Amino acid sequence: MIYGAPVTETPVRPADPETIASAGVILREGGLVAMPTETVYGLAADGLNPAAVARIFAAKGRPADNPLILHLSEAGELEGIVERPPQLAFELAAAFWPGPLTLVLRRRDVVPAIVSAGLATVAVRVPAHPVARAIIRACGRPLAAPSANRSGRPSPTLAAHVAADLDGRIAMIVDGGPTEHGIESTVLDLSELGPRGGSGASGEKGGDAPLLLRQGAITREALAAKIGAVRDAHGEALARSPGLRHRHYAPRAKVELVEPAMLQRRSRELAGDGLRLGVIDGGPGQGEDPQLSGVSWLRLGSTSQEYARSLFAALRTLDELSVERILAVTVPELGIGRALMDRLRRAALG
Ligand code: AMP
Ligand code: MG
Repeated sequence: MIYGAPVTETPVRPADPETIASAGVILREGGLVAMPTETVYGLAADGLNPAAVARIFAAKGRPADNPLILHLSEAGELEGIVERPPQLAFELAAAFWPGPLTLVLRRRDVVPAIVSAGLATVAVRVPAHPVARAIIRACGRPLAAPSANRSGRPSPTLAAHVAADLDGRIAMIVDGGPTEHGIESTVLDLSELGPRGGSGASGEKGGDAPLLLRQGAITREALAAKIGAVRDAHGEALARSPGLRHRHYAPRAKVELVEPAMLQRRSRELAGDGLRLGVIDGGPGQGEDPQLSGVSWLRLGSTSQEYARSLFAALRTLDELSVERILAVTVPELGIGRALMDRLRRAALG
């Protein structure tokens, strides 16, 4: 061993055909593989093998009541996994799959209870990333794949983030470069809709409109344009999606949200107090304050989309720089800005 060199145990492999084939073998044997998706890196296991799925919870330190998303290689596999999906599920699948929209539907018995944390439903999507789909095909099973971070940490958008959290705890990391959206999928609950779903099903139990459990990479506006009404989950979301209750996206430093107009004043105040400060400045933003020195100022592009793509990496970078406080600029709650503000608020809860 070379003293001083980092000890790494989990191989990080480029996403070539040989890697994809060996990922398929590892997964079929019940092992864990981290893979790129278009949202964030996922930690995959054979979703129909309860022992393999249990390894995901152990490797991440994920609370057992936080259910997982099953990833399919194509929409045609849906009916083998879920019971009597409403018509609306097929319409949404046709419009948004492959892509970052997760549908919550009634689970068939082939789906082990551990995947859904004991709920009667299961969350499913078809990812758009060609490497993720190739790995699902190589395994030949739906893959359970939550974000590939230690529970509570920011989601990984680079293979290096996965290695930082899970080295030595998983069999392989497939490196597909930076992820496209940088923010997780949108989660939409259709499980209480009648057979037709959507507005046509009114009068049936809970049959009005699907329930938006988590804002994500598919915007609320895009969903509403396609299917009309979408209900926002408030109190009931917590009961339906237990994972929302847990600590999320938290860096070590305390995160404070600040409106763009207040950024200059607040950053000068905190820097004046002698705090080691990091600033996450995205969206329209304003750029680094020339009067401040010694502040780690990260400018994350000029749109909410660029901000979302780099937010989790920025939280990790500021942790590495050992800042004591992070000021993150807010964005308007429109389009991807809704999901971005959701993640920022959760990061600020610490
Ligand atoms: P992650 O894959 O780590 O981004 O987390 C998956 C998200 O999907 C969490 O917010 C879960 O609570 C949610 N989820 C997964 N399965 C279900 C389900 N059956 N019902 C409701 N929410 C779910
Ligand atoms: Mg996660």
